[in-house]
Amino acid sequence: MVVFLSSTTTKKFICYACGRVIEVPYGVPKPVACPFCGAPEAMIHRLDKGPHRRGRGRGGPPWQKRLNEEEK
Ligand SMILES: [Zn+2]
Repeated sequence: MVVFLSSTTTKKFICYACGRVIEVPYGVPKPVACPFCGAPEAMIHRLDKGPHRRGRGRGGPPWQKRLNEEEK
């Protein structure tokens, strides 16, 4: 995937193990392990989804509705 962005030159990941944000330049693949605590890739999740959302359909993400329902 090639992304043309002038404002953002890095993509952000967050490590769920240590809670740190990992910044990676565009063009560099997702880190295979957390550079801070060494957690595996499974613990690392993308923070910013990039310029375009790949939401399915309209009306917002389905998981958000689910969360609201569970809170009641
Ligand atoms: Zn970590």
